[in-house]
Amino acid sequence: MTVDPTSSLGADVCEEDAPQCDTCSEPIVNKPTHRVITWIEDNTTKTSHFCDDACFSTEATGE
Ligand SMILES: [Zn+2]
Repeated sequence: MTVDPTSSLGADVCEEDAPQCDTCSEPIVNKPTHRVITWIEDNTTKTSHFCDDACFSTEATGE
């Protein structure tokens, strides 16, 4: 695999490091629509990432 150092993406985060959308499993890389929710469950902080409002609503309203 070749990595182009002049890649126009300009992202600090590569896909492998990016969080994945909880709904569609897409890696979320520098998306302005990125949504994150956190909550406490069993004394642990849980985090969910969503690539945009559509995926966020899908998760929030159930199937
Ligand atoms: Zn998504």
